[in-house]
Amino acid sequence: MKNIIVANWKMNPQTYQEAEDLIKNILEGIKDLNNTEVVICPPFTWLTDFSHKNEAQILFGAQNVFHKESGAFTGEISPLMLKNSKVDYVILGHSERRKYFGETNELINQKIKSSLSVGLKVIFCVGENEGENKEEVLVSQITEGLQGISEKDLGNITVAYEPVWAIGTGKNCGIEETQDAVASIKKIIEKLYSQNASEVLAVLYGGSVKSENSGDYLKDGGVNGLLVGGASLKAEEFIKIVKSAE
Ligand code: PEP
Repeated sequence: MKNIIVANWKMNPQTYQEAEDLIKNILEGIKDLNNTEVVICPPFTWLTDFSHKNEAQILFGAQNVFHKESGAFTGEISPLMLKNSKVDYVILGHSERRKYFGETNELINQKIKSSLSVGLKVIFCVGENEGENKEEVLVSQITEGLQGISEKDLGNITVAYEPVWAIGTGKNCGIEETQDAVASIKKIIEKLYSQNASEVLAVLYGGSVKSENSGDYLKDGGVNGLLVGGASLKAEEFIKIVKSAE
């Protein structure tokens, strides 16, 4: 399995020019990757312009999608629209969507199902808030989020462990704690599916990843890659993170 490095640009940058410069600079720095898949998730305004250009070195992902196929849903975007725009991935279950937009495990489950049904790959974010019981949160988010999804679809799902207290705060999850969370996620998957089910499942870590710590997570954290927010907006920093995965 290749390492996967995902850039979540969130609601940045504010102009097309800045977005285009960022992509160009990243592309310059990551030629000839062998071991690493790079997925960039810009805001919708820039996403499809870039995805239609078909850059060989990178894949593109959306930061959200609606679960209905088409119709009277003002302001929403369907999974099929993304698929037809050469978008490969979608981030679902991100803690900011859960917190600011009230996304529940049930809604996230519907979004995962409809995304998989058109052939999108899903980056499914899970993780506890400060003070919450990690095990309990992981069990409910994963069990409810994957309700009704078959084992054969697991190869198209990447679980991103993102403790909410580590996102955008500069507070990192320790390596041992990350290993524990990855082991818990795999155990939950094996309980829900079969003993071998977790073998095809990629697990990422996300939460204040920088070039100084990315290599440690990849080497010792037991993960198959990283979900990077703030540090993905600086080309030089993001390139270093990608290189640490090679
Ligand atoms: C994220 O938004 O998923 C994230 C991990 O952000 P940051 O890297 O800024 O903590």
